[in-house]
Amino acid sequence: MILDTSKYLGPCSCGRDHELRTKLVVCEHGALKKFDSYMDDAGLSGFRTVLYDTNTYNLPSVTRVRADQEIVLEAQGLHSEKGLIEDCMTRFVRKPDYVVAVGGGTLMDFARYSAWKLGIPFVSVPTIVSADGFTADICSIIIDGQKKSIPMQAADAVICDIDVVAGAPRFLTIAGLQDIMAKCVSIADWKIAHLVSGEYFCERVCGMAQEALDLMTKCAYDLKAGKEPDIETMAYTQMLSGLTMQILSNSRAASGAEHLVAHLVEMKPRGFENAHGLHGECVGVGTLLVAQAYHKLAERESIEVKPFTPIDEEWVRWEFGELADGILKENENDVLATFPPENIKLHWQEIRGIIAEIPSYEELDSLYAAIGAKHTLEELGIDPVVKDSFLDISSAIRNRLTLARMTRLIAD
Ligand SMILES: [Zn+2]
Ligand SMILES: [Zn+2]
Repeated sequence: MILDTSKYLGPCSCGRDHELRTKLVVCEHGALKKFDSYMDDAGLSGFRTVLYDTNTYNLPSVTRVRADQEIVLEAQGLHSEKGLIEDCMTRFVRKPDYVVAVGGGTLMDFARYSAWKLGIPFVSVPTIVSADGFTADICSIIIDGQKKSIPMQAADAVICDIDVVAGAPRFLTIAGLQDIMAKCVSIADWKIAHLVSGEYFCERVCGMAQEALDLMTKCAYDLKAGKEPDIETMAYTQMLSGLTMQILSNSRAASGAEHLVAHLVEMKPRGFENAHGLHGECVGVGTLLVAQAYHKLAERESIEVKPFTPIDEEWVRWEFGELADGILKENENDVLATFPPENIKLHWQEIRGIIAEIPSYEELDSLYAAIGAKHTLEELGIDPVVKDSFLDISSAIRNRLTLARMTRLIAD
């Protein structure tokens, strides 16, 4: 399928005029064979520098595209680090008119950073689509030893050849599926935050996230029924998800309370010391836990609220140890202080209605178990003891308004 991004552009009922750098997204069998004509469609011409790594260069399923210069980076130890990318740029025989990157997220960051630095377009050719970064504009890069996620530049075109990405190992496809299915929570969190605090919300962008969620849910149930994975549709949902980030310049539509498990696994606070797992796997377990907690909250027919109080420093120091200073800083301008807590009570029935749209824990758990997706804390090496304080721990690490965070304003 070809995703015409122009339908998402222009003036919107949310009050904004939406823009996207990415004009063309192709998810098709044999797309690489028609690469040149897609470049014409995207209006890209001139000196073409194509980046591979030693793995993607030698993939039998990859049809190598015409190149004015090919650069093949050693895959072993390749990571997105400013120095390494600038070294790669010194190999350019001249300033390209555009760069094409054939590979996964790391190679995209090489192209993204180089293109941004040189003020030229780049084209993304994913060899794996278990993540939604291909259509986004975020560069995950190590600068001076620190990992940063910096909005930089989106690809002008994304050419995803299904014959190539279909070769990815099943566990990566499943992790990617869990990352998209997490939208059942992230969409709910966004809607609830909008209701309660008046936070910006866009029906059009939310509709894109919902479309990705609905399509991926169908793919998941097809897998459960024993069908072959529909890689084309799965790839399409990842592209759609990345576009929501590009339009919003943030991950609001794609990442809510459930995503924080992935951050905790990276940060390793108390109870998470031995935690491990792919991004999508962590997010998948997060989705289950949050779905369970939210449905439990929604059992209450009415609630009482309590006044805002800043996060308890002693508790933060106990839970987060040496990470505590960073957590306290994150909570300095607490989003919970920006609206009257009564708003949660006032909108409680609407909030319950939004939660009712989230599949139940049991439904998600049996689906994930059936398709071989990670679905327990133990599988991620996380101490199950954190389950009771999970919402508090996870919502403390990011100052984004989620229902999980709002529980600090809801009386027991
Ligand atoms: Zn994600
Ligand atoms: Zn809008």
